[in-house]
Amino acid sequence: MASKTYQLLIGGESVDGGGGTYGIVNPATENIVGEAPEATAADAEAAAQAARDASPAWKRTTPEERANLLLALADAIKQRSDELLPLIIAETGATLNVGSALQVPQAVARFQRYARGAMQDINVALPPSIMPTTPLAPGGVIGGQVLRQPVGVVACITAYNFPLVNMAGKVGPALATGNTIVMKPAPQDPLAIIEFADICREVGFPPGVINVVTGSAPEVGQALVESPNIDMVSFTGSTGVGVKIYEAGAKTMKRLLLELGGKGACIVCEDADITKAITGLASVWGFHSGQICTAPTRAIVHRSVYDQLVGGLTATAPNLKVGPPESPETMVGPVITGVHRDRIEGYIQSGADEGADVVVDGRRPEGFDRGFYVGPTLIANCNNDMTAVREEIFGPVIVVVPYDDDDEAIAIANDSPYGLYDYVFSEDTGKAYGMAQQLQAGHVGINTAQRNHEAPFGGFKMSGVGRDGGDWGLYAHTEIQSVIWPG
Ligand code: NAD
Repeated sequence: MASKTYQLLIGGESVDGGGGTYGIVNPATENIVGEAPEATAADAEAAAQAARDASPAWKRTTPEERANLLLALADAIKQRSDELLPLIIAETGATLNVGSALQVPQAVARFQRYARGAMQDINVALPPSIMPTTPLAPGGVIGGQVLRQPVGVVACITAYNFPLVNMAGKVGPALATGNTIVMKPAPQDPLAIIEFADICREVGFPPGVINVVTGSAPEVGQALVESPNIDMVSFTGSTGVGVKIYEAGAKTMKRLLLELGGKGACIVCEDADITKAITGLASVWGFHSGQICTAPTRAIVHRSVYDQLVGGLTATAPNLKVGPPESPETMVGPVITGVHRDRIEGYIQSGADEGADVVVDGRRPEGFDRGFYVGPTLIANCNNDMTAVREEIFGPVIVVVPYDDDDEAIAIANDSPYGLYDYVFSEDTGKAYGMAQQLQAGHVGINTAQRNHEAPFGGFKMSGVGRDGGDWGLYAHTEIQSVIWPG
């Protein structure tokens, strides 16, 4: 059967990409899922222009109008989930467990959340202040209000791992606060986002408010970052690309939200509940094959519990079944591409070459003639200088570094260019809280890998600039304007 050919959405019209199409590969079967439009830089600029043209009218919509459209969007995605979920599984390789629990429902939850966000008053009243008479103006009481204005046109550029959820975390707050948008999903899996753009049109978003451009190469994203019609780049992706966007965006002083890579340190203290720690760490294997920026991939383990933890993880690994994404028994599906699998395998080899012990080796699991599979992998006896410990692997690989005292654990955790999401496992929660305060990471989980979507989310150091999540998503997509008057 011929695969479906998708189109861009620019200014309310479905149009072909100027560069033709390219095939989207199913990571589990290596078959073509569909043909994505290959946009050109000119297509990207046309989308930016359409969003610019739609901006003044969209800014003037009421919070109620925006909230109603966002709620309608959430409902429509829910209604179409039977169609969206298989598509997302086919193009991302997400397991049924992860896909059905998180890829679609989480996107719905985000649009519901930001429908409420549209109605939130995020402006701030300033207390009256007394100003003396100066040559500038007579003195007296001065009142004021801090307004959060839409930035204007936002390019939402996202990573491949959670296409709809990543996009919803940008599109939701950007639309709620009155911005128009151009979506640029990842090259590997843009099809559900194109379907999503169609849903936006169907529920009644005006032409040009939401546009989508896709492409196999960086040029489409680059064109958006360079466009004077784009005011803000709301980006989720690797630190390498984040740096390029920071540099290229400087010329037009882009507002930037950069949600970048991570190398989550997970400190397992002497007094940790080891079962809890193993459950948290095993999420690196069982949750989207470790293709998660927040994964606790770097276990920093007190020497007194080191053997117990490594033994427990070694015993746990075979319980996580590697298999086709659609099977409910599968815990570890494929990674996104053959190139990425090779990259992960290279990191595993580097662990062996640099003197660590590859205790569980997930390379080329048996039984797969096709698909980009890597099984759970555990690299123990590491030190913090090893390549596999320093660099983000973004696969089902845990590295383990032993330590002797808690200050050393903090030093090892902080000796990283990244600072996105760290973890502390200790039954002394007061001590764990104190350790969290010393960690250079935007987020610290104590005794859990669970999330709080209302918490601000973002990174220290090379893990990014800015915060989203909850109200912070609204703030991130606004400009601050002070309005003052004599009292
Ligand atoms: P990537 O950086 O390779 O690509 C991300 C997006 O940037 C894609 O849409 C890509 O086409 C686009 N892009 C590439 N070059 C560009 C350029 N020069 N200008 C503008 N856009 C450009 O990332 P990926 O491989 O899709 O995703 C994995 C990375 O994303 C990991 O590093 C992971 O940690 C990170 N990530 C971070 C978060 C977070 O919230 N911090 C969440 C998910 C993923």
